[in-house]
Amino acid sequence: MAQSFTDQLLENNARYAKGEAVHAARHPGPQAIQPARRVAVVGCMDARLDIEDLLGLQTGEAHIIRNAGGVVSEDAIRSLIISHHLLNTNEIILVHHTRCGMLAFTDDLLKLGLEGDAAAGKLLGQATGREFVSTHVSSASPSAFHAFRGALEPLDAPRDARNIERLAWDVRRGIATILNHPWIPAHGPDAVTVRGFIYDVDTGLLEEVTYPGPIGSLG
Ligand SMILES: [Zn+2]
Repeated sequence: MAQSFTDQLLENNARYAKGEAVHAARHPGPQAIQPARRVAVVGCMDARLDIEDLLGLQTGEAHIIRNAGGVVSEDAIRSLIISHHLLNTNEIILVHHTRCGMLAFTDDLLKLGLEGDAAAGKLLGQATGREFVSTHVSSASPSAFHAFRGALEPLDAPRDARNIERLAWDVRRGIATILNHPWIPAHGPDAVTVRGFIYDVDTGLLEEVTYPGPIGSLG
């Protein structure tokens, strides 16, 4: 099988991790609206990730979709459907990362804190180092924050086997969500490919998540 563009991006990442500036920060002139390398990236909004830099992507080559966690949320799916069917992308890359804030809270904890539960607010304050200020009201929206599954850990905790596994769970759930979506073709001549990675914010390196595999457990 021919090398995919994703493989080229992994080679770029290895150069980036050694300190090379692979992404050239310049405006190259008129370009097509369609991403030139037919890639769509879903990545976390974390301030330590420069997606174009760490993948060596140039302006015009890819769609970059970012949110808290790099979660394949309903809105990310919306963007991916438009990206593929209207703008011709066919390789999707998920980028989660070590030390992600989504490891350090749960949906219930954040909702309880926002709604006024003092114990939840105290825990969130301790976890973030920022005084948590409750709004003392409930809201139907957002319906979910998509905090990662598994036991809570301190904010910005260094990588270990457990949090890498929690990250991998969510990457796999994201891949499955895309591959099983009725409006994103996973087979046939119009199929997209999906690969998922964990970016190590300490080393600058991407590590691929095997798929399929475990997607979470209560234990
Ligand atoms: Zn993150």
